[in-house]
Amino acid sequence: RAKENGKNQYHFYESKLSEEVVRRYVLERELRTALEEDQLEVYYQPQLNIDGTALVGVEALVRWPHPERGVLPPAEFLPVAMSSGLAYPLFKVVFLQVCRFMTLMDKQGVMIPKVAINIAGIELITNGCCQLIIDSLKSFGIDPHRIEFEVTETLLMHSLDDLSDVLERLRQEGLQISIDDFGTGYSSLSRLRELPIDMLKIDKTFVQGIARESSDEAIVKAIISMANSLQLKVIAEGIETRGQLDFLRGEGCELIQGFLYGEPMKGERLAEHIADARYELKSNK
Ligand code: C2E
Ligand code: MG
Ligand code: MG
Ligand code: MG
Repeated sequence: RAKENGKNQYHFYESKLSEEVVRRYVLERELRTALEEDQLEVYYQPQLNIDGTALVGVEALVRWPHPERGVLPPAEFLPVAMSSGLAYPLFKVVFLQVCRFMTLMDKQGVMIPKVAINIAGIELITNGCCQLIIDSLKSFGIDPHRIEFEVTETLLMHSLDDLSDVLERLRQEGLQISIDDFGTGYSSLSRLRELPIDMLKIDKTFVQGIARESSDEAIVKAIISMANSLQLKVIAEGIETRGQLDFLRGEGCELIQGFLYGEPMKGERLAEHIADARYELKSNK
C-alpha cells in the first residue's frame, strides 16, 4: 500500500512539473506573438514635485492585455521574457512606443518633461541596442535629456564592464540614469560615487513603512541625505498616504511618485489627467 502511495505521489509531481513546463511554453509562445504584433501596452505613472503641482516626468510601465486572461502586470511575464531571449524585443517595443507617444503628446502641446523606462540590463548589451536608442531619438526628434533609464542597484553593483560602457555612452548622449528600488541592494558610498547616475529612487517598501516602522523611516532619511551629499536627485516611490508625503517633505525629499497622485494609466488617459490636475510641466534637470 505504501508502495502504491509512493507511486501515485510520483505521478502527481510528474504531472505538476509537466503542467508548469507546458504553462511556460505556452506563455513564451504567446508573448513572442504579442511582441511581434505590438500588442503590449505601455502605461504611464506621473512623477511630481513634492507639492504635487508640477509634473516632472512619467514612468513607463509595461502591461500585456492578454486576449483571455485580462491585463497582465509585468510580474506575470517579465521573468519568461528575460529567460527566453525576449528581453531585447520587449525593450524595443516599449522604447518605440514611448518615442511615438512623446511625439504625439508634443504635437498636442503637452510636453512631458521626461519619460523613465525600466531596463533589466541584458537588453542593453545586445548588439545594436545603444545605436537603436540614439538613432530613434534622432529620427523622432526627441531630446535625449527627456529619456531616463531605471536600473536596479543590484545590477549596477555586479554589472559587467559591457553594461557600464553602454550606460556611460548613453549618458554622454544626454540620457539620464536612475537607480530603482534603492535601498534593497547593497551599495557602498564609494561605489555610488563612481557610478554614472543622476538619481536614486527610494524603494516603495521603505516609503510604506513610514509611520509604522522606525527603521524604515531611518532608511528613508539616510537615503535622502546620502543623495544630497553625492549631489544626486532623489525620488520616493509608492506614496499612498498624506502621512508619507508629509514625512518626506519634512526630510527634504523633492520628488514623488505613487498612487496618492496617480496610478499607472494609458497614454490617452494621461493627457486628461494632466489637464484635470492642472499640472505645470516642469523639467527637473
Ligand atoms: P518598478 O520599476 O519599481 O515600478 C514601480 C511599481 O510599483 C509598478 O508596478 C507600479 O505600478 C507600482 N506602484 C507605483 N506606485 C505605487 C503605490 O503607490 N503603491 C503600490 N503598492 N505600488 C505602486 P508594476 O507596473 O507592476 O511593475 C513592476 C516592475 O516591473 C517594475 O518595478 C519594474 O521593475 C518592472 N517593469 C515594468 N515595466 C517594465 C519594462 O518595460 N521593462 C522592464 N525591463 N521592466 C519593467
Ligand atoms: Mg522603475
Ligand atoms: Mg521601483
Ligand atoms: Mg521593482
